[in-house]
Parts: sequence; C-alpha cells; structure tokens
Amino acid sequence: MRVLVTGGAGFLGSHLCDLLLEEGHDVIAMDNLITGNPDNIQHHFGNKRFRFIQHDVTDFVYVEGPLDAILHFASPASPIDYLELPIQTLKVGAMGTHKVLGLAKKKNARFVLASSSEVYGDPLIHPQEESYWGNVNPIGPRGVYDEAKRFAEAIVMAYHRFHGVNTRIARIFNTYGPRMRAIDGRVVPTFIVQALAGEDLTVFGDGSQTRSFCFVTDLVRGIYNLLNSDETDPVNVGNPTEMTISLFAREVLELTGSDSTIIYKDLPQDDPKVRQPNIRRAREILDWEPKVPLREGLAKTIEYFRNLKDPK
Ligand code: UDP
Repeated sequence: MRVLVTGGAGFLGSHLCDLLLEEGHDVIAMDNLITGNPDNIQHHFGNKRFRFIQHDVTDFVYVEGPLDAILHFASPASPIDYLELPIQTLKVGAMGTHKVLGLAKKKNARFVLASSSEVYGDPLIHPQEESYWGNVNPIGPRGVYDEAKRFAEAIVMAYHRFHGVNTRIARIFNTYGPRMRAIDGRVVPTFIVQALAGEDLTVFGDGSQTRSFCFVTDLVRGIYNLLNSDETDPVNVGNPTEMTISLFAREVLELTGSDSTIIYKDLPQDDPKVRQPNIRRAREILDWEPKVPLREGLAKTIEYFRNLKDPK
C-alpha cells in the first residue's frame, strides 16, 4: 500500500511510520511540526519508500499519485498543548479532518481517524465501552480537544454514510513510550524526567484518579489491525490495566531508582477521575490485545529519556 500518515513526525505517527515501512508499505509522513519533531523520523530519511512533507493539514492537502490509505494522526495531544494551542487543536480536528477526508474520497483511500478516550470526557460509566456517549464539558479548557475529536468522528461517519468513504475510527487511550516529548506535560514523560533529574514528582489532586497505560508498539499494532479490518464503527484501542496516578508515581520512582519525593498540586479542571478501556470489541474484531507489561514498557521509556541529550 501507499499510505499517508498525518502527524507523521509525532509520537504515535512516527511509530506508525516505522510499522508500515516494516510491513513493506510506502509511507508519506505529513506534519506541520508544531508538536511533531523530525528527529522522530530521521532514521527513515534516505529510504526510497519514505517521504516527508512539511504541511499543515488545515490548509488544502495535495498529494501526488495514488493513495491506498490515510491515517489521520495530526493533532496536539497533551492537555498542556491544547491549553497553549486551543485554536490549532480545534482546527486540526475539524478542518484538518475535513480536508483529509476530501483527499481520501478523491483517492479512494481507506481512512483511519485517531480519535480519543477524551470523547468519553469525565466518564460516568466505567470501564468505558464504545456504546457510551460520554460526559464532556464543551466550554472547559479540555473541550477544544474533546469536541474536536467528537466533531471528527461525526464528519468521518458522514463521509462514510454520504460519500461511501471506507473509514475506521480508533478511540485511543493513554499511550506511552519513546519519542513522547519530555515537556509536553503528560504524566509519563513528566514523572520520568522529574525522577531522573532528582526533582519532586508532581501528582495532581490526591492522586486517586486512574489511567490505563498502553505501550506504543502495542497501540500501533492495534491501529494496523483496524486499518486491515472491515470495522467502520469506533473501536477502543488501549491497555485495560488501570492504576491510580499515585501508584504510577511510585512505579516510576522504583524503576528509575530515584529518591525524588512526591508532592501534590491542584487537579486541572475537568481532569477525568477514572479511565479504563473496555477492549472486548478490539479483542473480537481485531484479534488484538496489548502484550507489553507496564514495567517492561516503562523500562524502555526510561532508557529513552536517560539517553536524551537535553530532556528539558
Ligand atoms: N498528572 C499528574 N502530574 C503531572 C501530569 C499529569 O498528576 O505532572 C495527572 C493528570 O492530572 C491526570 C493523569 O496524570 O489525572 C494523566 O494526565 P495526562 O496529562 O498524562 O493525560 P490525560 O489522561 O489527563 O489526558
């Protein structure tokens, strides 16, 4: 296949490029580099099956030649990023998704949307299954991301129903691994960088809120299986192993061997109290489930941040 990955220089996008090239496909990575980083894909520069285009997908998207699939992964993706880039976050989820769907229609390409567990907001049912419609505050600080992803899902289904575009929707839960940005504010890189530097680990709230962390290689395999499936309804992709943020902080301290202390700060507005994917559909439809245990994935991630020249 010849595949376009938007957000191809980002965390998930670059790992998708790796997997697609490994599976023998030709890959075009597109990124405007506002949160993406060319270092994430530089190991593919010089590969004839790989091309990078610096472009903002909220502007008209042009790609020469045939395309078999488009994976739409462009978006700021951390709560701090969408606080700092609220308009870009809304635009890439809304106008960017529209542009790239137009390209999929024109090229007759399969389309995969990177949606998010954020469509469930601060969920009132637990674990979250795909039939749940969510509990989102549209006007809160996270609303720019949550509503952009919800609009993106709506326009994907409209292009599927009205134009017959062959679409997929992945609802991606917290994912971690090498190539996360050290300073993007998400809990995994933040705690690791703090622990390695001997700084305090900043737990927000009382740390009783939960998340379920999926290692990135597991995640991209799930996305690849979804691309190759016939499923047009949303599918949760994530790791159901759930833990409190306090426990997660202690895991990071243990695995880094750090003697940093844990301090407590205010909980950000609308921070979901619990989050765990129900992955029954992914297991059945994609024949997929995560394989990498947290400690193994965390060890690899810690190694990555240890080797970063300037993690700040
Ligand atoms: N969090 C924290 N300390 C930090 C960063 C995040 O306690 O320095 C918490 C945050 O409040 C949330 C959880 O960790 O409850 C996961 O946050 P993240 O930003 O990674 O992603 P989210 O799942 O909220 O989108």
